[in-house]
Amino acid sequence: MTLRSLPDRKPFLTAALALVTLAAFAAAAISAEPRAKDLFGAKKLPAVAPAQSFGFYSKGCFTGGVALPMDGPAWEVMRPSRNRRWGHPAMIALIEKLARDAHADGWPGLLIGDVSQPRGGPMMTGHASHQIGLDADIWLTPMPGRPLTIAQRETMSATLMVNEKTHLVKDTLWTPAHTRLLKRAASYPEVERILVNPGIKKKLCDTVTGDRSWLRKIRPFWGHDYHFHMRIGCQPGSPGCKAQQATPGDDGCGKPLAWWFTEEPWRPNKNPDAPKARDLMTMANLPRECQAVLAAPDAPSLEAVTYRGAGAATVAAAKPQVTEPAETISSGAATLPAQASAFAPTPAIGIPLPRPRPGN
Ligand SMILES: [Zn+2]
Repeated sequence: MTLRSLPDRKPFLTAALALVTLAAFAAAAISAEPRAKDLFGAKKLPAVAPAQSFGFYSKGCFTGGVALPMDGPAWEVMRPSRNRRWGHPAMIALIEKLARDAHADGWPGLLIGDVSQPRGGPMMTGHASHQIGLDADIWLTPMPGRPLTIAQRETMSATLMVNEKTHLVKDTLWTPAHTRLLKRAASYPEVERILVNPGIKKKLCDTVTGDRSWLRKIRPFWGHDYHFHMRIGCQPGSPGCKAQQATPGDDGCGKPLAWWFTEEPWRPNKNPDAPKARDLMTMANLPRECQAVLAAPDAPSLEAVTYRGAGAATVAAAKPQVTEPAETISSGAATLPAQASAFAPTPAIGIPLPRPRPGN
């Protein structure tokens, strides 16, 4: 298009564009049950209420979320523009604890990826889970010696630890410190599962000597080749939180792992354009309480709900305002690990007992 033709065409283009936009709006209005991901994705602050998870890791929401501070003595939050550094206070406390413990083990510090949105729920991009504040992604790249700028946190690449053809760990990159980090994360009673790439699981299966009991928590899954995914169990005070199945009691290094090194798991998706669950989920698909979670007032400020260890970030617990369902909410606040200092020992939390080891 030449500059000269522009004045003539512009009104036509504008009119056409307006028509198309109108048509799109009309279509949306007809089918317009809003998507839960849009509603939850728009929330900038958590709901003021005691910490409570509703639903399942891949279908739920939560109240009383707190933010992991952008920086700590041994962690840095990555991709801050996503606003996904929110979690159940027990999750945030545990991330801080892992950062300290891993640092003591010799890991320079944690780079923290996505935790949850302020009120959880499905996300616009990525993750099927991370919806109830009990999942966190942690990079397998150690924190660099020099503090990262905000711009670097947005753009710095993580290190891919696995050869995408062989699905085996790159031996030049894997170190005993990586193994120690995963062992430390798996050591916490509230951690039920740690998802890693099958290549990483295999590396651990092949190299870990001595105590191998923690390997049962390390579960192979697609992706997870530059980060691991730490998942904790439903927390006290969340009767509406749906627990996941317990992991089998063995180390998981046998047959189920071998399957990952066959062709089957890596066959191309037959229907790559099929919509994902998050693209379809409406509020009707989430637990009923998530309506109230969405409608609850915002926490007064980011500062007020940033986790500061002992006694801080409990403003949410102090003013319960989500009224539904009353009986489940009233049961929560007293036992919240949020009241404990991040520097105090993690409170004992009931987890499903591992099944007995198969008799062989
Ligand atoms: Zn994850």
